[in-house]
Amino acid sequence: MRIVENRKELHAYLAQARADKKQIGFVPTMGALHKGHVSLVTRSATENDECVVSVFVNPTQFNDKNDLSSYPRTLEQDCALLEAAGCTLVFAPSEEEMYPEVDTRVFDLGPVAQVMEGARRPGHFNGVAQVVSKLFELVTPTNAYFGEKDFQQVAIIREMTKQLKFDVNIISCAIVRETDGLALSSRNTRLTAEQRHKAPVIAATLNESLQLKETKSVQEVIDFVISTLNNVDEMEVEYYEIVDGISMQPIKAWSDSTYCVGCITVYCGKVRLIDNITYTRD
Ligand code: AMP
Repeated sequence: MRIVENRKELHAYLAQARADKKQIGFVPTMGALHKGHVSLVTRSATENDECVVSVFVNPTQFNDKNDLSSYPRTLEQDCALLEAAGCTLVFAPSEEEMYPEVDTRVFDLGPVAQVMEGARRPGHFNGVAQVVSKLFELVTPTNAYFGEKDFQQVAIIREMTKQLKFDVNIISCAIVRETDGLALSSRNTRLTAEQRHKAPVIAATLNESLQLKETKSVQEVIDFVISTLNNVDEMEVEYYEIVDGISMQPIKAWSDSTYCVGCITVYCGKVRLIDNITYTRD
C-alpha cells in the first residue's frame, strides 16, 4: 500500500494505473476509521483493481469550528486498518494541498440539500460537494463508495455528480453497527461510558417503529420516535423526518413513496449522532 500526500504523486501513481487499464475504486473519508469505513474499503478493493482511500478532515464542511478542531486524527492507525482491508493507495493531503486557494464555489444542489442536515448545518453540504468534487477530479474513479449512515449525503453526492457530469458510479453501502445496534461513528468515542450505554436506544427505537408502520400514520410514528427518545435522560432529538429515499422530501402518508426512510439526529449529551431506517423499499 502506498501513502501519498500530494497531488503530483497521486497523479503519477494513477496515470500508471490507468495506462495499465486498471479500474479504480475510491472511498473518501475523514479518517478516525472504524469498521463502517472498512466495509466500504473492503467492497471497493473487491470490486476494483486499485482501491484508493482519501483521509482528509475537510475544513469547509464543518460549520462548527470546535467540532473541526476536536475531530480525531489517527492516520497511523488508519493506515494499518486500510492496508489490512486491501487499500492500495492512501491519499492524505494537507489543507494547503487540497485548498491552495480558497474554494469559493457555491453549489445549488436543489431540494435534496434544503431539508434535514442541509437546513440545520449551513454550508455543510456545500463543503462536502467542494471536497468530493475536487477528489473526483484528482482520482477519476470508476466507482466511488459512500455509507448509507450519512443517508442524505449520498443524495447530495449523486446530485453533484450529475450536475458536474462526473463519469463515476456512486455506490451506497449499508450501515455497519455495533452488536448492540449503535451505528458506528467516529463520534462515538466522545460519548461518556454512561452515554455509550444509553446510545443503542436510538437504533432500538427506530426498529421498534417499524412495527408501528402497519397501524399508525407517518406523523404518529414520528411522534413515537421523538417522544420515546426525548424521555431518555441526556437525549434530545434534533429532528426525525420520514422522507422519500431519493428526493429526501418529507412524506405525509406511507403511500406517498415506495421508498420511505426515517432519518434522525439526536444529541446524546453534547455528541450529535445520526442514524436512519428504511420502512419500505420497492
Ligand atoms: P467520514 O469519515 O465520517 O466522512 O465517513 C466516510 C464514509 O464512511 C462516508 O461515506 C460515511 O457514510 C461512511 N460511514 C461512516 N460510518 C459508517 C457506518 N457506520 N456504516 C457504513 N458507512 C459508514
